[in-house]
Amino acid sequence: ALTEAEYIWMDGALVPWHEAQIHVLSHGLHYGTGVFEGIRAYSTADGPALFRLDEHLDRLLRSAKMLRMTLPYRKEELREATLELVRANGHRSCYVRQLAHLGYGVMGVDPTGAPVQMSIASWEWGAYLDGADSGVRLMTSSWRRNDPSVVPTAAKATGPYLNSALAKLEAREAGYDEAVLLSTDGYVSECSGENIFVRRGDVLYTPPSSAGALEGITQDSVTTLATDLGITVQRENLLRSDLYSADEMFLCGTAAEVTPVRAVDNREIGEPGPVTRKIRDAFAAAMTGADERYRHWLTYVG
Ligand code: PMP
Repeated sequence: ALTEAEYIWMDGALVPWHEAQIHVLSHGLHYGTGVFEGIRAYSTADGPALFRLDEHLDRLLRSAKMLRMTLPYRKEELREATLELVRANGHRSCYVRQLAHLGYGVMGVDPTGAPVQMSIASWEWGAYLDGADSGVRLMTSSWRRNDPSVVPTAAKATGPYLNSALAKLEAREAGYDEAVLLSTDGYVSECSGENIFVRRGDVLYTPPSSAGALEGITQDSVTTLATDLGITVQRENLLRSDLYSADEMFLCGTAAEVTPVRAVDNREIGEPGPVTRKIRDAFAAAMTGADERYRHWLTYVG
């Protein structure tokens, strides 16, 4: 269940949580015309801090551009609105959801003339995946990942998440924790809401965005942390069988953070391995400000 907070920022002002409402004829509700971001704020010695806020705002603006949506706020204004909201809600740590969607005013697929509405919500959210500590069990989905020739998969857009929702539901109904999606070509793309890392020998592999995976900000953080630990990271297409023969495997995303994988399609990988644990620890030290080398990733709420 959702842990409600006091306020939601909507179209320029903080409103009480239950008053953040939209019309049923909003364009985005019918056609999936929206872009969004998920960001975490962590508790640090200097109060709550948003993790990689700048990179998330940049991706939101890139996503909007890909959909030809003109956001009514500048990056600076969205940054301030996000900080104001987290402050007003009094969180020590939280998840932040920014959304820009086409609102009420025109019907029919043509989005011309529909107003862009913006909202930012925040709430306290614990572990995203069941079994996050001991490792999750994955199933290869019968649904293929959105193809970059069908929708701009680099955009974090609302409509394409139907693909994620169907895959996640299928995996859960079959008794697994999460779904792995393959690209049209049969390469490993990503999970319904996380990027994938596989260790084989001394190297960590992660699929490229050409396989339809989102350019994950946590994927980027993990790449930096691993490189700084002296671990080689390669962005390379992976086959389904590469998952089955992995020495270690983990997922990463803003909501899921770094989550070990214990099995794929009932092929056991096992307990969280040494590299997974190292990366998890490094990520925890970065997000809490304990490791000074990554302080520039934090924006203190103040
Ligand atoms: N892939 C998908 C489909 C996602 O929804 C997410 C979560 N935003 C990710 C990957 C991970 O991206 P990030 O690390 O930027 O949260």
